[in-house]
Amino acid sequence: MAHSANLGFPRFGVNREWKKASERYWSGKLTREEMLATADDLMMRHWMLQKEAGIDIIPVNDFAFYDHVLDTIALLGAVPARYNHPAGSQVDVDTYFAMARGRQDATTDVTAMEMTKWFDTNYHYIVPELSGDMQFQIASERPFEAVEKARSVGVENPRPVLLGPVSFLLLGKTVEDGVELNELLNRLLPVYTEILQRYKDMGIQQVQIDEPTLVLDLNDEAVALFRTAYDHFATRNERPDLLVATYFGTIEHNLELAASLAEGLHIDLVRAPGQLNAVAGVLGESQILSLGVVDGRNVWRTDLERALRMVKEGVEILGSDRIQLAPSCSLLHSPIDLERETKMDPDVLEWLAYGKQKLEEINALTLAANGKQDEVADFFDANAKAVQKRRSSSKVTNPAVQERMAKLNDDMARRYTPFNERIRIQQEKLHLPPYPTTTIGSFPQTKEVRRLRANLKKGEITQQQYDDAIAEVTLDTIRFQEEADLDVLVHGEFERNDMVEYFGEQLDGFVFSQNGWVQSYGSRGVKPPIIFGDINRPGPMTVKWSKFAKDHTDRPMKGMLTGPVTILQWSFVRDDQPRKTTCEQISLAIRDEVVDLEAAGIDVIQIDEPAIREGLPLRRQDWADYLDWAVRCFRISASGVQDQTQIHTHMCYSEFNDMIESIAAMDADVISIEASRSRMELLDSFDSFVYPNDIGPGVWDIHSPRVPSRDEMVELLEAALKHVPKERLWVNPDCGLKTRGWEETRTSVRNMVEAAKALRERA
Ligand code: GLN
Ligand code: ZN
Repeated sequence: MAHSANLGFPRFGVNREWKKASERYWSGKLTREEMLATADDLMMRHWMLQKEAGIDIIPVNDFAFYDHVLDTIALLGAVPARYNHPAGSQVDVDTYFAMARGRQDATTDVTAMEMTKWFDTNYHYIVPELSGDMQFQIASERPFEAVEKARSVGVENPRPVLLGPVSFLLLGKTVEDGVELNELLNRLLPVYTEILQRYKDMGIQQVQIDEPTLVLDLNDEAVALFRTAYDHFATRNERPDLLVATYFGTIEHNLELAASLAEGLHIDLVRAPGQLNAVAGVLGESQILSLGVVDGRNVWRTDLERALRMVKEGVEILGSDRIQLAPSCSLLHSPIDLERETKMDPDVLEWLAYGKQKLEEINALTLAANGKQDEVADFFDANAKAVQKRRSSSKVTNPAVQERMAKLNDDMARRYTPFNERIRIQQEKLHLPPYPTTTIGSFPQTKEVRRLRANLKKGEITQQQYDDAIAEVTLDTIRFQEEADLDVLVHGEFERNDMVEYFGEQLDGFVFSQNGWVQSYGSRGVKPPIIFGDINRPGPMTVKWSKFAKDHTDRPMKGMLTGPVTILQWSFVRDDQPRKTTCEQISLAIRDEVVDLEAAGIDVIQIDEPAIREGLPLRRQDWADYLDWAVRCFRISASGVQDQTQIHTHMCYSEFNDMIESIAAMDADVISIEASRSRMELLDSFDSFVYPNDIGPGVWDIHSPRVPSRDEMVELLEAALKHVPKERLWVNPDCGLKTRGWEETRTSVRNMVEAAKALRERA
């Protein structure tokens, strides 16, 4: 018999209980016990939900308080020295959160660990810091307690999830020279062995060990690490079976390796359906294959007939006893329950499936694979009808958009004059001082601001009252920026709920969920819009507030837009045409907005592309094609303006060293880019490649509430000046300030302006 399985469940809770509980704990409004009780409650509810959906194999240890890589850091005691964690003791919750967020109080001032994209998703993980002298030991009991808790609510087959040792190391970053990963691995393996042994003692039969790095290009060193690790496990009898989970791509280029590692293997058949035969063909006689046939990271209903055909192929080759059916990856990247959506266009709603519905699909597929097709005939029927309706719906196509797309050409992706000329013309108009200061767009989205929006939605205040209140905070923010003496101002983005949602709501081709939350990092969730059809801009989206702000200051006011690639990347994208095509449609809409802003007298326009990197294919061989269309789409959106209009862009969350040439090819006049957490490491690439345009490498880590001092920022700027000529250097934070409080923002902005002035004085 085939078994249904899940690889991981979203943590937030259907009412975002975990987000709220952890944030309230951080602000002192909840005790530790209350917070932990919320976690327990959510875990149990999620296990019950999975059980009720008919899932045989239910994951445990997938509920992270902040991030599962950070959980692994805690489990292995891999805590960097600056957190003063006593070796051999348990990592307590506060140390855990200090690693995630930094800590600044009367006695401590310690920075957070770096965070970066989890593969090509919009989830961010905490990057393990690997130093040569690192020692590991089990430093958290949570992974074991989770098993007991699951059993206490009747989960018979809890399957612990661990991040595998090799991926842990490969996803980490060495913080000094001479760190040998194989030495670290040798120190890690006894700890993993002990963990597995303890699971065995608890009666666990199978552990899911995530090694998603198997879908990447692996060098010889990485291959050797895999061999060492899994050879080591192979000789240990006192352990449960291992299911090595891969996802987000094919493993065909690492086929022999991946297939040789353990008793079971999970593959992503949504991203890479073509790998099924190859993988099934090389498995040994008793190995289990877990088929990821339901998309774990998009919201479309599975075409069950199609998925079942694939499942049957697997069963044919391996026999049903060796088959598990699962989502393509953890459901971490999927919202929880579609039943919560009561306001969506019912036609589109019918085309969707969230986490719970996906589990039901897996259950139905499993029953069908086990010869119980009759039991699920109605389920399959309804599915086939919905899939068919979506295919033929007139809501999906817009003839006007199609016509414009047909006329798209390369001239539309080019500014009139080269950068050197443009920047001179722009400076004549803007008169900026050396080291111009600016921010990335948003200022704190306080409770009050969010409450305004909630009240407007509920009809408790009128549109006029809302607009008046937004106007007031916007004006206050403009006054603050003038007092702080920033050079290029922003309006603060108070009218925006989210940088993608705000645009999607005003464009045709999108629908919005009420509850489609997915975790972005830590307690931060996003509710990605759903792109189901052709994209069209019925009218201006940002001109009103940008114009209002511009009219209330003499300083340059930057108009703020979200770029086409980021809108694409942070949406759930239709899967019935190439992503490139959808992106081009968005770039035309943004282009129209840029032109409208210019016509309204806005001289500086920022088109944010923080997500451009996360769209990079996981394998190098596919990069060029993606970068080509992504850069082109940005340029289409940015190139409708005159020379004197200064186009900014912004990027964050990642390292960009390896795509700096494409970033330059975007040809924005100015780019602000995250750099402070990695201490300007980004700029190392400038040794071999001269970035041609203006650049502001961030000097203030805005993902942490810590206030950076003036001198600390001066130091970062000095580091930047080693790579960037001073007439090209801007001074700005790493990202927008919407998640920060006003108090820390005020001090940090003032310190930042002081840092710029200190440099100006030296000149
Ligand atoms: N303009 C946006 C802001 O300041 C950019 C956010 C981002 O890059 N994630 O909030
Ligand atoms: Zn940013």
